[in-house]
Amino acid sequence: MDAIERRFWRYVARQWKPMLVALLCSVGVTAITGFTAYLLERVIQSMEFKDPAQLNVISLTVVGVFAFKWFLSYGQVYYLAFAAQRMMARLREDIFAHMQRLPLGFFQSRQVGALQSILANDVPILQSAVLLVRDVLDAPLRIVAFLVYIFYLNWRLALLSCLFLPAIALLIQRLGKQIHRITHQTQGSLADITALVQEVLAGVRVIKTFAMEDREIERFTRYNQQVLHHSLKGERRRARLRPTVEFIGAVSIALVLWFGGHQVAAGQMSTGQLMSFLFLLHQIAQAANGVGSIMLTRKQIRAAAERIFHEVLDAEPEVYDAPDAIVLPRLQGRIEFRNVSFRYPTGEQALRNLSFTIEPGEVVALVGHSGAGKSTLIDLLLRFYKPQQGIISIDGYDLNRVQLDSLRQQIGVVPQQTVLFVGTVAENIAYGKPSASMAEIEAAARAAHAHEFIERLPAGYQTLIGDRGVRLSGGESQRIAIARALLRNPRILILDEATAALDPVSERMIQRVIDEGRGERTTLIIAHRWTTVQCADRVLVLHRGELVEQGTHAELLARNGYYARLYHAALVTSGGE
Ligand code: ADP
Repeated sequence: MDAIERRFWRYVARQWKPMLVALLCSVGVTAITGFTAYLLERVIQSMEFKDPAQLNVISLTVVGVFAFKWFLSYGQVYYLAFAAQRMMARLREDIFAHMQRLPLGFFQSRQVGALQSILANDVPILQSAVLLVRDVLDAPLRIVAFLVYIFYLNWRLALLSCLFLPAIALLIQRLGKQIHRITHQTQGSLADITALVQEVLAGVRVIKTFAMEDREIERFTRYNQQVLHHSLKGERRRARLRPTVEFIGAVSIALVLWFGGHQVAAGQMSTGQLMSFLFLLHQIAQAANGVGSIMLTRKQIRAAAERIFHEVLDAEPEVYDAPDAIVLPRLQGRIEFRNVSFRYPTGEQALRNLSFTIEPGEVVALVGHSGAGKSTLIDLLLRFYKPQQGIISIDGYDLNRVQLDSLRQQIGVVPQQTVLFVGTVAENIAYGKPSASMAEIEAAARAAHAHEFIERLPAGYQTLIGDRGVRLSGGESQRIAIARALLRNPRILILDEATAALDPVSERMIQRVIDEGRGERTTLIIAHRWTTVQCADRVLVLHRGELVEQGTHAELLARNGYYARLYHAALVTSGGE
């Protein structure tokens, strides 16, 4: 057992209580099965001796014993399932919680489909681990108990029957190895398929634009055939296992009947004992079957556990906090970048030697072509990534030394694309602070200049939005997003302006929110509109990851440099704003 397996079995071990109950029930069931063999011997004996009184007693005993067995069988099945379900629930929670803590970069460098496949396909496989524990403990117990019994009944006959056991064990091991290899391949191809579907769904517009549907269908068919091929290969091996074991079993039973029959005829053994012997042998064979599947299940479990641990649970969580991280006090909102350079893991140099300071309450617009590094700058400020060089600080606190939660709680972010969840307007505004009262929600909506339009919705703040509810315009959605950000009363507000045109009312309202925040909180805007840029206290102009100019709109125009060129080019193309 290696490290991965040990870690996984710890999940199973946590469910030891219900498993113990199930196991005790199993011991009871085994005892009753042994007792049944004894009853069988007695029934045949009483028939031979024509003893109806004993027959009555035995029949009644059978009813009683099986009534008792009902409870044991129930406990055996239910408590095992109980342990399996609880273990899976726990594992799902851990995987999900871990995924939440993984850094943004993790999801960008991986196909989301592959992760979904792990949750959907691999976690359920681990369920069988609990059954495996039962088989590991229960099957050998039954085998040993019944072996003792048959040796007691007739040791010569028992010895003869055991000749076949090593052959069965060897066979099972070989088939097991093959099945493991195939299962691994099948799971891999399944992940490919899931990833492909995910990719196609996300890129459906591109696929249709380029009329590549046929190519995608062909690609899918290829993967799908691969899965089919591997699955069928595995199924063939699996299907082969049982009849093989059964056949060997049948041969040994025929042998016992032949040898035992002769002994009965010679008067060395009673018919009842022979029948009882055969019954027990059958039980042993069944238990051996369970042992056979132990190897298989263990290998499947290993493969699934490997993917779950390697690909998800072992991924480094977000560089959370240094042990001595400082909990930020309520901030003023003074942001400083000193000689900051940042390169993405892909090698893209996104920021070069950036230095600037933003004073508390200032409204600053970030301007630059697409790819200039504006979003990267914001992501660094939110500590989604750490710069390779330089220091970013807020109110003099080095970001690397502060507690992440205390940082992000004080920064409100309004993304370019508003994500609205299925729920009411009020719930959507309260997303970042579920404990918010209606009064707080309304105050935030007023501050975001969203109150008026929300009041006009069919059910006001209780109107359902999202997929199945009322559809809001882009501008309205963004105002909800602003309310969501303002509800936490952030010291720093980051606004990623929508590139798409908003309705004029929304645009004016958002402008007002920015103006009203001046002096109150530091506002950073990734600006796409010249009206926004003009009302900023300062404009930072980025070009290829460098800060090329900064100043007010008027100063920058007067300088007649890069910014002025950007501005005039935009006026020509858009006809003036
Ligand atoms: P902007 O927001 O100004 O459009 P970005 O900050 O998004 O610019 O991008 C700056 C540079 O970093 C670009 O060259 C871009 O290709 C690169 N980049 C952005 N995000 C990533 C990423 N997740 N991985 C690798 N490179 C990235």
